[in-house]
Amino acid sequence: MLKAPFHPLSGLIDPMDSSTPKAATLFPLCDLFVSIQGEGRWSGRPMIFLRFWGCPLACSWCDEPRHKDPQTRQDLSLDELLIALDQIAPSLPSVLLTGGEPLGVDHLPVLIDALKKRGKWLAMESSGIGGEIPEGLDWLTISPKKALPAEIMEASDELKFIVGPNPSASQQQEIDRWAARHPNVWLQPRADGDQPNAAATATALQWVLASEGRLQLSVQQHKYLNIP
Ligand code: SF4
Repeated sequence: MLKAPFHPLSGLIDPMDSSTPKAATLFPLCDLFVSIQGEGRWSGRPMIFLRFWGCPLACSWCDEPRHKDPQTRQDLSLDELLIALDQIAPSLPSVLLTGGEPLGVDHLPVLIDALKKRGKWLAMESSGIGGEIPEGLDWLTISPKKALPAEIMEASDELKFIVGPNPSASQQQEIDRWAARHPNVWLQPRADGDQPNAAATATALQWVLASEGRLQLSVQQHKYLNIP
């Protein structure tokens, strides 16, 4: 199986290059790479992953620890970021804004506007916490980690709930409530780092099969393929 080397920002931009003046608008990144989307509605679609550094939450089971490692953080200006995108995949139309937590990124609308002007199809994955939902997205995935206002849940194109082997009664009620009123609700088994969790997967599968078509299963295909 392919196991991609995974320090994709290194080599794209030289942080010591003083010939590039740093603008006031900086975007904190920890990863920039091309892969397939492994989750939800767009599973299998190749995308440029733009993973922001930092998140206001601290989920104990978070499977993206790079977003909080100071060693992975690189602050890029808008121009640097656009150059890096051109270097990595100039013709790939789909870009995923993820994290960490994209909502917490300052000046996010500036970046969205620049990417839309370049003709990109823009998706974003968010916990719904950290800032206001920006305009201009083509697809919004909300993966709630805490109770959210109904308007944020309803603004999403898909809801993605992360479930462990033994979901609490309150989580079950919350998911069933949204399954009855939102057209795109996914259950995604909680992973153990890079590895799928068999017990959580079995729980999610049974729940989906019993949902009379209201729920869908998202299994993080990239973890089965051993790619980022
Ligand atoms: S919201 Fe997501 S990125 Fe943030 S700590 Fe939780 S799982 Fe990790």
